Amino acid sequence: MKGQKVDLIVHNAKIHVMNDAGSVYDAMAIRDGEIIEVGPERQILNKYRCDEEIDALGKDVYPGLTDAHGHLLMYANQKLGVDLSGAKSMDEVIYRCEKYYAKSSNKFIIGGGWDESLWSNDSVPNNKRLSEVFKNIPVCLYRVDGHAALANQFLIQKAKVSEGKIDGGEVKIENGAPSGLLVDNAINLVSKHLPAYPLNQVKDAILEIQEELLQYGITGTHEAGIDFKHIQLFKSMVSSGKYHLELYAMLMNSPENRAFAAKNGPYRFRNLSIRSFKVFADGSLGSRSALLKKPYSDDHQNHGLLLTSVYEMRKIAQFCLKNGFQMNTHGIGDSANALVLEIYKNAFERNPDHRFRLEHSQIIDPADFSKFSQYAVFPSVQPTHATTDQRWAEKRLGKDRLLGAYAYKSLLRQYGMLAIGTDFPVESTNPFYTIHAAVQRKNPKNEPLNGFLVKESLTFDEVIRGMTIWAAFSSFQENELGSLEKGKKANFVIFDKPLESKSTFDQNYAWMTFIRGKKVYSLNEL
Ligand SMILES: [Zn+2]
Repeated sequence: MKGQKVDLIVHNAKIHVMNDAGSVYDAMAIRDGEIIEVGPERQILNKYRCDEEIDALGKDVYPGLTDAHGHLLMYANQKLGVDLSGAKSMDEVIYRCEKYYAKSSNKFIIGGGWDESLWSNDSVPNNKRLSEVFKNIPVCLYRVDGHAALANQFLIQKAKVSEGKIDGGEVKIENGAPSGLLVDNAINLVSKHLPAYPLNQVKDAILEIQEELLQYGITGTHEAGIDFKHIQLFKSMVSSGKYHLELYAMLMNSPENRAFAAKNGPYRFRNLSIRSFKVFADGSLGSRSALLKKPYSDDHQNHGLLLTSVYEMRKIAQFCLKNGFQMNTHGIGDSANALVLEIYKNAFERNPDHRFRLEHSQIIDPADFSKFSQYAVFPSVQPTHATTDQRWAEKRLGKDRLLGAYAYKSLLRQYGMLAIGTDFPVESTNPFYTIHAAVQRKNPKNEPLNGFLVKESLTFDEVIRGMTIWAAFSSFQENELGSLEKGKKANFVIFDKPLESKSTFDQNYAWMTFIRGKKVYSLNEL
């Protein structure tokens, strides 16, 4: 018997290591869930032996992809509720709710995914018809971006919602009374009056999402905001042996979560890593609650909303620095991003390697771009937002402000890295949509024909780095994840077709997906 015994050899492959040199090799050896060596075919086959060899048939092998900004829990809840995505009118929204309720054992309706920009008259919705149809149960329907919700009258009354503005939110008023439409922090007024789904249903839904991600070669996600009770939920999922994905969780800014962080410091439990906080600086462009320096081009009285005060954000930054945590702040509007950059300046002065992230970095005043490099602020972007929003972004912002919008190349030039994700379920989990959006600047229907703001296109290599090695950097995991080098976790995907970006969208899938050396998905074993 020749060679050292290992657990797995992958050979006859095109292994894209994603190291600085951009190396491509034919074979790799894996033991105890880690890569022992990657190199030329003969070198690996002569040096090692194992019971299971995989002939990759010359296919592309990449580090398992990371979705650097997603919401497993929100997606699970969406799966358990009524799906309103793509609905073409309020009538269709109500019809889908009725159909769902007829089959549901629960005495409430929670839905998500509606987008009034797809309706024939894209006017601001109210709850009038919804309240007529559902008189005696709570109904809460979230907008696709999660930054607005429509609550029926029953729920509005149960939660004793009255009129007016609240800090970082708004209760929309029609004819002197709440219309049912709630924006940003106003949603919290009703959400606490909604029942939760049974835990086993949530877990099953997360496992279903895991299958969806593995078929695309995604082996890890950064969960953008969890409550304290969810730490236990994810720990029990990890322990169950059925949950395989690497999970980098961001904690919401609550007293219990801060106590957890202060007590534990950066926290590891197998493939669960917790060392960051998620903070909301502002809302969304779709809901016109992103905080802008100048008013909306299609709503001249409105600048948007600041969701967390500057004082509070500064306090969280101090807390994170003290406890070895990272701060990941949601910033859409140019004003919100400018405020966060100034807060991060102080963090930089205390710790130049803070890696504080700006989630979305969506609209940046051109005068502010250089602050990303000056204060070492890590941009975290979702290229499919650009190609989804292109239908109406100019209406909201005007032509001039588009110069600093969805400006991924400019951000990359400043910081030298990007963390790339999808913000699922706001967008699809499909990473090939992300590649197409980032490189071609088109949606999967290849719209717009010549691409949206194509000056800000990334190269194919850059977008893959954003989903692998840079995503690992953005979560302090570059020594374990993100490339196929000796000593790293054997998280990798063999793609069914060559992985590339063409001017016309072409769907791909994983042929096999591995996490820590274990095959967790195979196209041929479906
Ligand atoms: Zn998000």
